[in-house]
Amino acid sequence: MQHLDLQKVPTELYIGGAWVGSSDGSRFDVEDPATGEVIANVASGSTDDAEAAVTAAADAMSSWRQTPPRQRGEILRRSFELMTERKDELAELIVLESGKSWNDAVGEVAYAAEFYRWFAEEAVRADGLITRAPNGDKHIIAKHRPVGVCALVTPWNFPAAMATRKIGPALAAGCTVVLKPASDTPLTALAMAELMAEAGTPAGVVNVLPARRSGPTVGTMLADPRVRKLSFTGSTEVGRVLLEQASKQVLNCSMELGGNAPFIVFDDADIEAAVDGAMVAKMRNGGESCIAANRFLVQSGVADRFSEVLAERMKALRLGPGLDRTSDVGPVINEAARDEIASWVDSSLSSGATALAGANAPAGTGWFYEPTVLGRVDRDDPILDHEVFGPVAPVASFDTEDDALEQANATEFGLAAYVYSGDLSRALRVGEGIEAGVVGINRGFVSDPAAPFGGMKQSGLGREGAHDGLLEFLETQYLAVDW
Ligand code: NAP
Ligand code: MG
Repeated sequence: MQHLDLQKVPTELYIGGAWVGSSDGSRFDVEDPATGEVIANVASGSTDDAEAAVTAAADAMSSWRQTPPRQRGEILRRSFELMTERKDELAELIVLESGKSWNDAVGEVAYAAEFYRWFAEEAVRADGLITRAPNGDKHIIAKHRPVGVCALVTPWNFPAAMATRKIGPALAAGCTVVLKPASDTPLTALAMAELMAEAGTPAGVVNVLPARRSGPTVGTMLADPRVRKLSFTGSTEVGRVLLEQASKQVLNCSMELGGNAPFIVFDDADIEAAVDGAMVAKMRNGGESCIAANRFLVQSGVADRFSEVLAERMKALRLGPGLDRTSDVGPVINEAARDEIASWVDSSLSSGATALAGANAPAGTGWFYEPTVLGRVDRDDPILDHEVFGPVAPVASFDTEDDALEQANATEFGLAAYVYSGDLSRALRVGEGIEAGVVGINRGFVSDPAAPFGGMKQSGLGREGAHDGLLEFLETQYLAVDW
């Protein structure tokens, strides 16, 4: 197995195929959430650097869009293979900068690489349409073409997968990109840029611009008329700000925003299976996932039993640094995140919930928080309206199917939802009734590069993965033809 050599991970900006320092010399530290120690110091892209990166992407656009789709696909395929070969090194890097457990990091690398494999295959499938008009007066040719230079902005919770889920389809479509990774986790994105260059990606097609002050750097890109698209994954709050900025140039926007997933368990469900699903839906990535089950809604007759079985399973998880490969759960991303989680739990306990597991931040180094189950949470408890983004499972109850649906839909978010019932027609009916873009039916693990992923309501616009993910980076041109 190859071990990571942290000294060899790039820490400069990647612009036009070259590693360059920041134009104003500024840099920032990257910390290991398990220890609080600085692991790297990274160049911080200025507004001038943002302009330079857009220039590099715009210059590369004319030849990249002309590159045969098969050839673009083969570069993505090679990127998939290199990621797969180096999965252990990449996983170590992800653990170091994001704090997630070893298993979650290895799982992320595999998932991230699959987006390159999938879009390597989709690159040759940007099909159009040719048909005769209904009144017979002309031929209609509809062609897909790349939307243009794209600004990509990604969060820290999946530093590799949120990048490949955008870079894969963008490159398959014939677009060039500037990626602004999260400041907590810029190293994985830089390592991926290096790997993609090795896979044969031409200079300027992928540019990576970490930035300590993301607002001005991203703002410069969105104001540049050469940029035609924004693809953003992050919080709804920041998403709203970026949509407003993007409106100035009427940018094509794909937005993957926050969630507040309900996990509904009916009294006819197999409770053991529901708890297995709950452990995945809640604890994948330590709860730091946009599709994490954020509120458990369990039918009154089985709510206490479900809570107790879930609590037993949560108590058995080992909390510890991800580099210790036997840990099940790592620290959360930073001190502020841990304090926020603790304050939501404390306020729920003071509104009458019961701590059945965890509810504690252990002393010592690192931003750890114990896997937590809150039982008998009041249906009006504000914790149920808030994306907690950590290892916390609040369990509330419902009485009827209508009541379950009403509670599930009582949120501005609509990303993911989960339904467990022994009656499949009921599970499907409730699944259809929930306003969420992704629904797990008797299943806690839903992510798949071949499936269209995205949110309804204020959880987002557009879909990533599947063929839909490719279409987000294409626009249609219609030629009206007499021949
Ligand atoms: P965030 O604070 O919204 O940040 C996301 C990205 O936007 C980061 O790169 C961040 O840079 C940048 N950013 C922040 N403020 C900005 C501004 N004013 N202008 C331009 N860029 C700005 O979200 P996060 O805390 O990193 O991630 C957690 C959120 O992401 C959760 O709400 C989660 O649900 C959501 N998420 C959604 C999906 C999905 O597919 N729907 C997937 C994963 C995560 P800095 O790091 O420098 O602040
Ligand atoms: Mg943030």
